[in-house]
Amino acid sequence: MTDFELIRSKRRSLELRVLEDGTVQVRAPQRAPVRMVQTFVDSRRQWIADQQQRQASRPRQRWLDGEVLAWRGDRLQLDVSEGRTRVGISGCYLSVRVTQPEDEMVVRSAVEGWMRRQAKGVFEDSIERQFGWFAAQGFARPTLRIKKMRTRWGSLSARGYINLNMALLHYPPLALDYVVMHELCHLKHMDHGPGFHGLMDARMPDWRQRKALLEQPLFQP
Ligand SMILES: [Zn+2]
Repeated sequence: MTDFELIRSKRRSLELRVLEDGTVQVRAPQRAPVRMVQTFVDSRRQWIADQQQRQASRPRQRWLDGEVLAWRGDRLQLDVSEGRTRVGISGCYLSVRVTQPEDEMVVRSAVEGWMRRQAKGVFEDSIERQFGWFAAQGFARPTLRIKKMRTRWGSLSARGYINLNMALLHYPPLALDYVVMHELCHLKHMDHGPGFHGLMDARMPDWRQRKALLEQPLFQP
């Protein structure tokens, strides 16, 4: 029997995921019997093993002095030292001062806190620069929410939120602008049909090249 973590939610089907650390997670409808979920998981054993293998062989971000962090299409070297927590860019270094410089979780949480603060300014700026045309069409400016998402770069909710993945900060600004434009185009076209692509082509003719930037491998934080 394969061990798994069960998350119940208002959904109608089962969804299987293998997390970065190899944990198997199943999302299931509220009333799905555990035995049924177990049978489902067991039937996907080979797929799970393949995913776990893939996760294990993926290069991983380390959070120690001297390690490199992909930053907006560039690279910053972590310069970790002991002191009162403070994070900031200094030349090609990301200077990280923490109380426990040897503890990767402490370093990671300090850097991610800093990233989240950076994301706000950077993402708002991208929306601001690209929203003009949509404003002229009478659309309301969506409210930014910064998220850590495993499977998507962004999304636009019908309730007026634009959700952007914090990991976009690792990629070049051109790629971030592409994701923002993509989500903004959903204000006019909800699906990915010809209307949507026509609008993308009109608003950002080189969007395919920009999208390709997001497919290059990066250290996954
Ligand atoms: Zn889309």
